[in-house]
Amino acid sequence: MPAKLVKGLEVAKPLREELKKRVEAIKAKGVNPKLAVVLAGSNEASKVYAQSKEKVASPLGIEFELHIKPDNVTTDELTALIDKLNADPKVHGILVELPLPKGIAKEQVMNRLNPKKDIDGVHPFNRGYLLGGQEDLALVPATPKSCLRLIESTGVPIEGANVTVLGRGDTVGRPLTSLLINRGATVTVCHSKTKNIDAVIKKSDIVVAAIGRAGFVKADWLTANQVIIDVGINQLPDGSITGDVDPKAQEIVAFVSPVPGGVGSLTTSIIMDNLLDAVRLQGLA
Ligand code: NAP
Repeated sequence: MPAKLVKGLEVAKPLREELKKRVEAIKAKGVNPKLAVVLAGSNEASKVYAQSKEKVASPLGIEFELHIKPDNVTTDELTALIDKLNADPKVHGILVELPLPKGIAKEQVMNRLNPKKDIDGVHPFNRGYLLGGQEDLALVPATPKSCLRLIESTGVPIEGANVTVLGRGDTVGRPLTSLLINRGATVTVCHSKTKNIDAVIKKSDIVVAAIGRAGFVKADWLTANQVIIDVGINQLPDGSITGDVDPKAQEIVAFVSPVPGGVGSLTTSIIMDNLLDAVRLQGLA
């Protein structure tokens, strides 16, 4: 039987309905949730990501403002902008699109964010809360949170599951590992130095692939009943986008998230979820 596709929009739809209600409840308390996005440099993908946040925010009743800075912006100018947004009581969440232009001290910019406005969970305080299992105090990075929601949507239990996280990157692999451990999974993290990745993957109940290598996970490494979440975004020579998992996985496993249409289609809604969590953490709702 072909795998069931775990589509991001199918999970996003009910989430957006829930978010609309939360926004209404927050507005009833006199607070208008507002997201500020900082777009530094001329990276085309970042522009698209920033626009997609605006598109999702407005139907939910969330205010949006975009701060565009040129390629030659300095670290000092960016930290000054962050200071201004941190101090603005009308702004509840700040997101700095990555990558930043060459020469910018990324950590200096990210570490300047007020942790309670850091809606992509990049500040060390938020990382620490997540690592220490205090998720109620944390703003959690959106992409791993999307992976978690997709796994949960399958109904396959996370507690007690053997999960392989392929990739130990800061954006996906590391925070996702904490989210899964916090939920009682047994997690194996694989990366470029791991031996026999195929054997590790074969004995997993759930696999999340986040390495950025087209078709790296081969169909013959997979077995029936597995849940596969494909986070990879890779551009093929013909311009099409594909994931880290061989598309033939769909003929073998129980659930697989498509690329495109999987994790990426949910992430923007999760950012809005985090914005409303930020309002709560700021003691405003
Ligand atoms: P990253 O920080 O560059 O990390 C990549 C990880 O992959 C590293 O841990 C690296 O191992 C590992 N790796 C690379 N080649 C490998 C190989 N041949 N075998 C085993 N491991 C290998 O990347 P990231 O930011 O986490 O992103 C990962 C992927 O997710 C990318 O394709 C990115 O575009 C995608 N992504 C998608 C979304 C979305 O919304 N769908 C959001 C964010 C990222 P080492 O640590 O040993 O070098």
